[in-house]
Amino acid sequence: MRAAAYIRVSTEDQARHGYSLDAQREACRRRALEVGAQTVAEYADEGVSGATLERPGLAALREACRAGVVDLVVCLDPDRLSRKLAHQMLLTEEFERAGVRLEFVNFDWQNTPDGRLFYALRGAIAEYEREKIKERTLSGKRQKARSGMMPIGAVPYGYRLESGRLVAEPAEAEAVRLAFDLFLREDLGVNGVAARLTALGVPTRGGRPWNRATVRGMLRNPVYAGTFLYRQGGEVIPVPVPALVEPETWTNVQEKLAEARRLWSGWSREKYLLSGLVTCADCGCTMHGAVRRGRKGGRGRSYTCVRTQAGRLAQGCRPVKYVDADTLEAAAWERVTAWLDDPAAFARELRDGGRVDELARDLARVREHLAAARKGVDNIRRALAGGLLDLDEGTAAALKDARARERALLARKKELERELAAARASEKGAREMLGQAKRWLKELDTLGFNEKKALVRVLVRQVIVRGRGRDVEATLVANLGAADEAEKPGKI
Ligand SMILES: [Zn+2]
Repeated sequence: MRAAAYIRVSTEDQARHGYSLDAQREACRRRALEVGAQTVAEYADEGVSGATLERPGLAALREACRAGVVDLVVCLDPDRLSRKLAHQMLLTEEFERAGVRLEFVNFDWQNTPDGRLFYALRGAIAEYEREKIKERTLSGKRQKARSGMMPIGAVPYGYRLESGRLVAEPAEAEAVRLAFDLFLREDLGVNGVAARLTALGVPTRGGRPWNRATVRGMLRNPVYAGTFLYRQGGEVIPVPVPALVEPETWTNVQEKLAEARRLWSGWSREKYLLSGLVTCADCGCTMHGAVRRGRKGGRGRSYTCVRTQAGRLAQGCRPVKYVDADTLEAAAWERVTAWLDDPAAFARELRDGGRVDELARDLARVREHLAAARKGVDNIRRALAGGLLDLDEGTAAALKDARARERALLARKKELERELAAARASEKGAREMLGQAKRWLKELDTLGFNEKKALVRVLVRQVIVRGRGRDVEATLVANLGAADEAEKPGKI
């Protein structure tokens, strides 16, 4: 492994301990060797500000990375690399693209709020770019579908592909007709049809026996009535294909299926922007997407905390609580876009969400306790001096306790002051980062459902819903310090 140490001092750094070129060189070299480098090249900038990318040493390092002669870049901390978060992002991405690992001596990406926010946002941007690429491929497929060609390679059972279009595959087409016929004319049910097809030795695509899911999927597929529906995001493009059953047969089968389905009310498979993120503040349960089926025929996408088990209410609020999904999602999306439009608002939300305030409150409390403890020590001393107390064992112990308490509180106070300063600094970092994100994500309004969902999942940690009906109140918790929780969307 060929390492490169990048070291930099600005004019004002030179006086500061630990930032001299020699100290940096030593620390970087040691780290490089620790992680297995055989050679350590050096790129240095002396007396140059980290606010610009125009640095001779840095330029040479980037050139070397592009040329593929470096496997690892070691740097004291992100600030050495650049004073600007946008530049840090640019450089780390450039290194990554060149297959170069980046290692900091004094900075643990995973364990600082700055590092986590940095990664969360980079994740959002990477996701966004992936989606853009996907979108380009998808628009090609849309074009194909509109011209009556099959946009995808997967061919439904009963057909084969011929010059980009579906044509009937005689043996399979016969099996499709048989399945529709059996379901409609004989009261076998879906399971019964599957069993009959298997018994008759009708071949399946994968060679496995027919089952409920394959038969149901077949019976519900509009392709057999002559229309292949190409779905892309919210858009559906009908592609005309040869019908295998009469349109009337297909419609009758749908009605018969619907009858059976009315007895079954499962969770909806529709799309929910906030799935996995919503919590009910009233009962503490996760709220999942569900279509609400009102008694008076009213229905609609909702989030609910109710969960049934074997037909009984297993958890959630009583009476059962539903929150209108459209309203909740619109509100959440508006907030997310507002964060990106107005980084200061995001920083305010972060503060409201509270690390800084919480620390400030703790600090005030500790200061009060400290004052009280000091007063206690003084009182004992004064009493001793005035002869009101003897320095017996009890008094000595009390004095010792009071002093220990004072010392502990003093240490806690210093610790809190340090944490508070760090929290304030990280808020500032978040603001800067969002300023960048806004530029990258300016095409926000053109995002599709999946892109929106990806973005929401990166920026929102939790949606807390309180109350019900008209008094429902939702709080969005920003996703800071939860890079590890931003995983796959939960299935509903
Ligand atoms: Zn609830």
